[in-house]
Amino acid sequence: MQCNPRYEILFEPVRIGPVTAPNRFYQVPHASGMTNALPRVRAAFREAKAEGGWGVICTGACSIDPSSDDAPLPFATMWDGNDIRAHALMTEAVHRHGALAGVELWHGGASVMNRTSRLPPLSPSGIPWMATHVGFMGNLRPKTMDRADIRDVLKCQTEAARKARTAGFDIVYVYAGMGYLGYEFLLPEYNNRTDCYGGSIENRVRFVREMIEVTKDAVGKDCGVALRVSLEELRGRPGRNQLSEAHELVALLADVPDLFDVKMDSSPTDCSASRFTGEGSHEPVIDFVKSLTKKPVVGVGRFTSPDTMVSQIRRGVLDFIGGARPSIADPFLPNKIREGREAEIRECIGCNICISSWHDGVPVRCTQNPTAGEEWRRGWHPERVERADTPERILIVGGGPAGLECALTLGRRGHEVTLADSNRTFGGRLTFEKTLPGLSAWNRVVDYRLARLDEMSNVSLYAESALGADEIIELSPDRVVLATGARWTNMLYSSLEIPVGRLDHPDVFTPDDIAGGRLPQGPTLVFDFDNYYMGGVLTEHLAAHGIPVSYVTPAGQASAWTIMTNELPLVHRALARRKVAVTTLHLLKSFDGETATLAHLFTGEETRVACRSVVIVGLRLPRGELFETLTERADALADAGIRSVDRIGDTLAPGAITHAVHSGHKLAREIGADIRWQPYRRDTPIVDAVADFDMRTAAE
Ligand code: ADP
Ligand code: SF4
Repeated sequence: MQCNPRYEILFEPVRIGPVTAPNRFYQVPHASGMTNALPRVRAAFREAKAEGGWGVICTGACSIDPSSDDAPLPFATMWDGNDIRAHALMTEAVHRHGALAGVELWHGGASVMNRTSRLPPLSPSGIPWMATHVGFMGNLRPKTMDRADIRDVLKCQTEAARKARTAGFDIVYVYAGMGYLGYEFLLPEYNNRTDCYGGSIENRVRFVREMIEVTKDAVGKDCGVALRVSLEELRGRPGRNQLSEAHELVALLADVPDLFDVKMDSSPTDCSASRFTGEGSHEPVIDFVKSLTKKPVVGVGRFTSPDTMVSQIRRGVLDFIGGARPSIADPFLPNKIREGREAEIRECIGCNICISSWHDGVPVRCTQNPTAGEEWRRGWHPERVERADTPERILIVGGGPAGLECALTLGRRGHEVTLADSNRTFGGRLTFEKTLPGLSAWNRVVDYRLARLDEMSNVSLYAESALGADEIIELSPDRVVLATGARWTNMLYSSLEIPVGRLDHPDVFTPDDIAGGRLPQGPTLVFDFDNYYMGGVLTEHLAAHGIPVSYVTPAGQASAWTIMTNELPLVHRALARRKVAVTTLHLLKSFDGETATLAHLFTGEETRVACRSVVIVGLRLPRGELFETLTERADALADAGIRSVDRIGDTLAPGAITHAVHSGHKLAREIGADIRWQPYRRDTPIVDAVADFDMRTAAE
């Protein structure tokens, strides 16, 4: 198939200073959780995107000096020769596919706690970021930078830029966003200096200007020099000569960098979840940049629609379509557009599980793309799977995320697949969850897979087909895969923070009851110790149905784990807007149809709350009866020629949708190969002892 002529503009080359990007698809710097300790994992992860057609591939934050040390959060470094070697693996991999490689050189300023290096964090005026969430808190206050400190940081940037060029990078960044050092100079709250670096916007921009200038002096003949800058706050502040301070900044630096990479100021607004924010949400903040500079501009907005992308270019908002999450969910997005296969794009659902990986300090995971981070260590390609030597007849029971992904991957391997589900529609838990406030985009997990399955002649789908052990044995496939999901329970929770007992009462509900169409009556109390999205979103759902609802959790915040997905502040905002009373640090002890008794998690002090119904969002347990019955009938299975019965997804271990998709994919890759318990390949840092590395010398 051929590229739709309407989309051809996306494949025009664009100059960035001395280098030229082959097209307008630009994988902006984003965290991958792959530090220099996992150089091969990282190189393969980035290479997949270059192979898939992204014209520029960047690293995530790459520290220029030990005074920028974000541990235990993962970050890359450009401190020494080993770092050069580690990054060179990535640049070589990216260059193999004709893409440019960019490095996001970074100094974290006051936002890092230097827990490993134990150096004082640096900042313009000694002002810390007082994070409200424990994972981001630190108790070391930053040092006010004197002129020698400023000179030192400029020198570190110079040296890191030279190392970056030696490592083979084509684009070198100066970072002035997201609370990091350059940003702190720009924002008056952080910067109350009285020297030439503080006061007027001209003075506050000076440090960033000097960072760009030293980078250009160091590598500007060979590399494009990019400025990454957050404009959200500055856009809200009136300028003296321009509409806003953001306008002033761009006007002052219009000719200085070779590229502007523009973004929002904090992770929850910059990388906002689809539950609260739509595609293209940055535009109102960054739409003016191109009117003030002739340099190319890249920005993001969870772009997955080629029409939206073209509109951004044609309307003069952006020159490059920046992508972080869309490139993780579908590394082959550009190639699919170029080949007229845009219907095959595996669209990012905006769940931010990828971000949670960074907060967890581990390599990136993606709900839509189970191969993300597995390219090297498990050898999983995002688009290709190995054909099975001997195609088998495989029956999958359950068409939720796990069953759908397993069917798709087994089908691609050439197996004869039958997928049966008892429901009228495929989608499992998403059939209900997609109807909850803000979650409609999550159904892309189902839409993408069902559309691909529809095209496959070797996969048959049977809805409204509840299968028991007898039917399965009668069908006598070669193998059975159970993807029957999990059930929410009415279990309570103890002060030891362990699920205990059950609360049986006709007016106690679980999310499954509500999914089944049974709505609570009268004032309702939601008790949530699951801590991810379900408790908060169900509370919103009930409030939207006009049910007076309150929310109780033993955790310190509502939907506490959503701090990992950038959703937590917006969950609280949504609950506050619906006037939901939120009670934290409390257990639900009992309920008699009129009163719920709560107990403080730490003191045990009891409180009574009048309510007619209770919803418990707590422990999920596998729907495991079918597996148990089948394993009890081993002889009948053998007689029917059934070689294996496997479980995947929630019926194996209840988790998020990302776990189900990964589990379904993994089994489909490995079925019959008896390698399921083998560990993946283990990466190692590059150290001087590696003898076979061909070190390139800097072109000074
Ligand atoms: P996962 O997230 O692991 O994919 P889901 O709960 O989303 O799990 O999906 C499980 C699916 O399995 C549901 O659609 C459910 O209707 C289906 N299912 C469960 N038991 C059976 C059965 N015995 N026969 C057919 N379908 C089943
Ligand atoms: Fe998109 Fe979710 Fe994948 Fe992140 S994890 S890239 S938000 S689908």
